[in-house]
Amino acid sequence: MKKIIAINSGSSSFKFQLFEMPSEKVITKGLVERIGMDNGIFSIVVNGQKHKEILEIPSHKEAIEMMLEKFKEYNIIDSIDEIDGSGHRVVHGGELFPESALVDQKVIDDIDSLKELAPLHNPANLTGIIAFQQLMPNKPHVAVFDTSFHQSMPESSYLYSLPYDYYKDYGIRKYGFHGTSHKYVTHRAATLLERPVEQLRLITCHLGNGASIAAVKGGKSIDTSMGFTPLAGVTMGTRTGNLDPALIPYLMEKTGKTAEEVIDIFNNESGLLGVSGFSSDLRDIEEEAEKSNPRAELALEVFANRIHKYIGSYATRMNGLDAIIFTAGIGENSDVVRAKVLQGLEFMGVYFDEKLNNVRGEEQFLNHPHSPVKVIVIPTNEEVMIARDVMTYGIEA
Ligand code: ADP
Repeated sequence: MKKIIAINSGSSSFKFQLFEMPSEKVITKGLVERIGMDNGIFSIVVNGQKHKEILEIPSHKEAIEMMLEKFKEYNIIDSIDEIDGSGHRVVHGGELFPESALVDQKVIDDIDSLKELAPLHNPANLTGIIAFQQLMPNKPHVAVFDTSFHQSMPESSYLYSLPYDYYKDYGIRKYGFHGTSHKYVTHRAATLLERPVEQLRLITCHLGNGASIAAVKGGKSIDTSMGFTPLAGVTMGTRTGNLDPALIPYLMEKTGKTAEEVIDIFNNESGLLGVSGFSSDLRDIEEEAEKSNPRAELALEVFANRIHKYIGSYATRMNGLDAIIFTAGIGENSDVVRAKVLQGLEFMGVYFDEKLNNVRGEEQFLNHPHSPVKVIVIPTNEEVMIARDVMTYGIEA
C-alpha cells in the first residue's frame, strides 16, 4: 500500500488529494488559496468534514509545509516519510512530453523551457514540483501534462495551414489541453460500454469554464478543439473559442487597443460572459434563460451550437461514432446544455432520451437502449490519473 499525493498548482493556489494506492481511496483532499497575499485560505476535508482556516501563506513551499503539518495535526500521517510520491499537473508539455515523466533536473529544465508557450501556468506548476522535491528529496515526483494525450494527433490534425517553416522554427501547431480528463473519460467509457478501447470511436466533451472537445479513435486522441493555446475551439466561460484572426487588427484600429489588450478581451471578457453581458457562470445563464432573458438564451444557443458542430465534424473525421461523452462542471451537471447539444443528431444514430437527462455529477447513459451511438455522462477525475501515473512512472518504473 502506498500513499500518493496529487497536486494541481496555480500561481496563487493549489489543490491536493492524498490517495491510498493502488486502491485509489481518497484519504484527504483540500485547497490552499491566496498564497503570497493577505488572508491565505487553507481548506481540507477530513473524514467527510470540511475544515477551513485563514492564515498567512507567504509562498508555495510554505503552503506545502503547512499542508504536511495539517496532515499530522489531523492524524492523517505521523511523518512526511509516509508519503511515497507526488504527482503534479503541468499544463504544457509541448512536443517534449508525449507521456508523464519522472522528475529530474532535465525534466525541470524542459518544463521551464516551455514557459513561453504557457507563461501563466508552467512556472506555477514548476513551483509546486520544486517545493515537493526540496521537502521530499528521496521520493519520486511525477509530472503529468495536459497536452500529452493529444500528442497522438496526426500531423494533418495538428498542423495549421501556415507556411510550414513556422511549425519547424517556432513550434506553432495545435497542442490541445485537458488531456488527462479526456483520457480518464475515454477509459471509463470503454469500461461502461464493455468494449475494448481499441475498437471505439468516441467524442469526449470536457465542458467546464474552459471547454474542449476531442475525437478519440482506438483510445488515442486524433483531433481536439483547443489549439496552440487554450483560447481556441468552442465558446467558453470567458473565452471566444475560434474566430476570424483578421478581427485582431480590425479591433485594434476600432478601439485603439494593443494586440495584447485585444487578446486579453478574447480570453477574459468573451464567451458566455461576452454574449450574455452579465456572467461567465453557466448556472447564472440558465437561471436568466428560465426567465426568458434573450441574451442569456442567446449565450446558451451559441455555446451549444459550437459543440454540436464539433460533434458532426469529429464523427466525420472518424468515419462514424460509438459514443459521445459529457464531463466537467457543465457536461456533468447541465441537462439544458446536453439537451441542446444532442438535439437533431438522430440522422447520425444518436437517439437521446430526455427522460434520462435529469442527472448531475454521476455516471449515466442518456441514450435509448437501441441507439447505435451511446451518450454517457462521466464525472472526470484528473487527480486519480495523476496518482496512477505516480505509481506507473515513479514507483513501479
Ligand atoms: P473549471 O474549468 O474551472 O475546472 P468546472 O469544470 O468546475 O470548471 O466547471 C464550471 C462550470 O460548470 C461553470 O460554468 C458552472 O456554472 C458549471 N456548473 C457547475 N454546476 C452546475 C450545475 N448544477 N448546473 C449547470 N452548470 C453547472
